[in-house]
Amino acid sequence: MTNADPACPFCARRQTVYLESPRWQLLRHADPVPLAGWMMLASRAHRGGVDEMDASEQREVGVVLAAIADAVRAETGAERTYSITFNEAVRHLHLHVIPRHASDASTTSWALADRYRATMRGELGAASSEDAERIAHAVALRCLPALAPLGFVVP
Ligand SMILES: [Zn+2]
Repeated sequence: MTNADPACPFCARRQTVYLESPRWQLLRHADPVPLAGWMMLASRAHRGGVDEMDASEQREVGVVLAAIADAVRAETGAERTYSITFNEAVRHLHLHVIPRHASDASTTSWALADRYRATMRGELGAASSEDAERIAHAVALRCLPALAPLGFVVP
């Protein structure tokens, strides 16, 4: 890891890491989490966006993201997944991988942003930590075979 900063939550590993490689960490959204299965793929180095990654990192991110999205869909029963990134609060590229459930309109498109804000304000119940942990472990195990050739291991 380059330019590690002990004040940075991702460098300091304050969250459970479900899988890791020399370049990446697989995390789940911290509590309160709006939906179980809300995962995050984070770069281990400080990268403010894909445009700050080198060509090798840029090639790898799509492969890794696809494996995680496939596992989130399988483990949550979601019909689709969303992948979004802002990298505003923490300067590590982190891609949120979010289950989109056909049966729940609040997980759809920008309604998801309303749901997220309501959960953060405490107006809408969060997913339980236990469910989020259980699904995060299952996602990690499901995508590990696809990611092991890229150096991913369970820490
Ligand atoms: Zn950091």
